[in-house]
Amino acid sequence: MTNKYKIAVVPGDGIGLEVMDATISILNELDVDFEYNYADAGDECLEKTGTALPEKTIDTVRKSDACLFGAAGESAADVIVKLRQELKLFANLRPVKSYPNTNSIAENIDFIIVRENTEGLYIADMEEMTEDGAIAKRVITREAESRIIDYAFQYAKNNNKSKVTGVHKANVLKKSDGLFKQIFYEIAEKYPDIEKEDFYVDATAMYLITNPENFEVIVTTNLFGDILSDEGAGLVGSLGLIPSANIGDDGALFEPVHGSAPDIAGQNKANPIAMMLSAVMMLRYLNENREAEIFENAILKVLEDGEILTGDMGGNSTTKEVTEAIRTALRGM
Ligand code: ATP
Repeated sequence: MTNKYKIAVVPGDGIGLEVMDATISILNELDVDFEYNYADAGDECLEKTGTALPEKTIDTVRKSDACLFGAAGESAADVIVKLRQELKLFANLRPVKSYPNTNSIAENIDFIIVRENTEGLYIADMEEMTEDGAIAKRVITREAESRIIDYAFQYAKNNNKSKVTGVHKANVLKKSDGLFKQIFYEIAEKYPDIEKEDFYVDATAMYLITNPENFEVIVTTNLFGDILSDEGAGLVGSLGLIPSANIGDDGALFEPVHGSAPDIAGQNKANPIAMMLSAVMMLRYLNENREAEIFENAILKVLEDGEILTGDMGGNSTTKEVTEAIRTALRGM
């Protein structure tokens, strides 16, 4: 063991608490030294303290090497959107991968959506009411789009991906997405070994269903990335299997895509795998690639065996049973 990492741990609400406990208990099996700093956020925190995201929590996250985030309930937008802004987490990464014994529509799906997280249509205060309706502005800057496109190509290079697909609607949004497309090909020139292609977002929505194996890395603007990510979740089955990362220059936050699931909270029913795969992404971010692989392979073994699965995957095992199965698989590696 060499490095000691400071990890901010924000379990949040509902099943966030259960899947976080499960994940930390497996991280503790690995040959990596973590110092966990727990911090509050979410609905319960709002009730207790009057704010869903205390300054102290932002501070703990800021001082950490990375943050593991569980889930926030009704207050999710106030918590996660604010954390993304405060920490300038410009890239949202959502891997979409088919696993055995799941409801995936195809077997060989393995791509990642790299979504711009700071501008596009999702900018606070850029919507206004007018006399006869409302107007929203879509902001595309050279700086932010170059940064995300370059991030996507770097990601491809570092992860042995052979192709990056730029997704836009430049035929209609001629100026804003025209610029996105232009920047996409400018940046692509720096990466001659990586194949590049671009599609309109509507066509992409269809190709993701008809030919999902075609994609490796998708890079796109904020709103399109948001929508295509949920389509990705639909492609591979349960929400309980999908991790995500929010990355900035000085920090990173890893969270499952699912929310606090109040319908099953506190019942030992939640699938801990999305949170665990988020921790695997964190290990890779910290360059602990060997430990990431061991953790991921242990999860994969349990999915391949197909015997100990939570309800969302068609089984009837508990969160704790799945966690123990992953621990046993890991110890056998
Ligand atoms: P929130 O308001 O916090 O987003 P939600 O219930 O609206 O909560 P999710 O938490 O994403 O949204 O849950 C959607 C559905 O998926 C629920 O029926 C929930 O039980 C199920 N679900 C989500 N995550 C998991 C998980 N990890 N394991 C099992 N089922 C899950």
